[in-house]
Amino acid sequence: MKINISDIENNEKNFSDINFSEIIEEFNKETPVKAKLRAELIGDIIKITGEISAYVNLVCDKCLKEFTKEINFSVEETYNRYSLEESYSQEFELKSNNFSVDLNGENEIDITDFVYQSVILHIPNKLVCDINCKGDEIINKYIKKEISDPRLEIFKNIKIEKDN
Ligand SMILES: [Zn+2]
Repeated sequence: MKINISDIENNEKNFSDINFSEIIEEFNKETPVKAKLRAELIGDIIKITGEISAYVNLVCDKCLKEFTKEINFSVEETYNRYSLEESYSQEFELKSNNFSVDLNGENEIDITDFVYQSVILHIPNKLVCDINCKGDEIINKYIKKEISDPRLEIFKNIKIEKDN
């Protein structure tokens, strides 16, 4: 899905409300990613705000089983309609403390890509299928064995001699 900036400009309200609902196969083949967004034109800046909700298929770090996680979050992103002068751009980014994307005169914003990138950024670093996940038995045994392997004990007693 793409939005046309001229359409927003020609709209009296200077904003468009977007009801996004699309299957993004990388996340989930059955359930569409949903988003309620508003694209607002403020001078030469397009501001996109709203809520995104996605079901994402992931792999548990502890038991290696696949599971589906629901991710909900708010977004706020700004696009510059035209490329800003470098000095001005830096000043703007420092002031707003927010990275904004230059469209370089491009008249469209790819909302599907925007939603995709936003979901990627909100996938947690640690993935656990369930708060009570005990992990995979074989993996657990392997980890335990590694730690208490008597053959590794010898390394604890090695003293490195230094040349003085
Ligand atoms: Zn698990």
